[in-house]
Amino acid sequence: MKITFAGTGSGKTSLKRYHTSTLFSSAEFNLLLDAGDGVSRALMNSQIDFNSIDAILFSHFHPDHLNGISSLLIQMKMNKRQKPLRLLVHSNLYSSFIKFLEIGYVFKERMGFDINILTYSTDSFFRVNKDIAFISRENSHLIKYETSAEDSSLLVSSSFLLFVESKRIFCSGDIGSEEDLYLFENEKFDAFITEVTHIDIALLKKVLLRINPESVYINHLSDESQEELQLWLSSLPVSLRERIFVTFDAMSVTI
Ligand SMILES: [Zn+2]
Ligand SMILES: [Zn+2]
Repeated sequence: MKITFAGTGSGKTSLKRYHTSTLFSSAEFNLLLDAGDGVSRALMNSQIDFNSIDAILFSHFHPDHLNGISSLLIQMKMNKRQKPLRLLVHSNLYSSFIKFLEIGYVFKERMGFDINILTYSTDSFFRVNKDIAFISRENSHLIKYETSAEDSSLLVSSSFLLFVESKRIFCSGDIGSEEDLYLFENEKFDAFITEVTHIDIALLKKVLLRINPESVYINHLSDESQEELQLWLSSLPVSLRERIFVTFDAMSVTI
């Protein structure tokens, strides 16, 4: 299976990185994880055909993960897409998502292709197609908004264990604390994709030594974090450092 890091930036807009968006490809299916602001350009930059995407999975609704979807759907229409598209959102966010698309004048019946909006639930196993599936677990990324939100059920942010062909990949998504990186501690996985914006980088060494993943891909990076990250990497033992890859836009790996 192949992973293409179309965007590897944080929530802070940068000229060096698009916001985080990652494509997971099996031989027959392409699943995009998140579609934040500017995702259409990020996909073009990675030479990913919009219409090759079969499904888009959303971790949460911060703008750097959601806000490019309306435009991406319009691009698909303008590129004369025929094949259906699946959009996968947490069940708590279904109504908000429909409203969000309507606000961008994205009306399913006018698109020229089928858009199927499906919901997943926390802790459930979701089969996307015959060789891609995932388990979602809720993390603490949005807990900070509890006193501000009128409807706290909308404060749902997910981490995923993705199953793509024979590989298992833990995708942290945006997190709220170190503890979130242990959500799949009891599961085996071949690769670990972790963000580094919402965790003190010094803590990540402890996490990696504890969960001991075969390979680590670091994304959701701000321009400001580069130097600190390089210093941190150089402080690690070689046996750990050689398993860590700092992602960049349009990077792709086959695992
Ligand atoms: Zn983010
Ligand atoms: Zn976020």
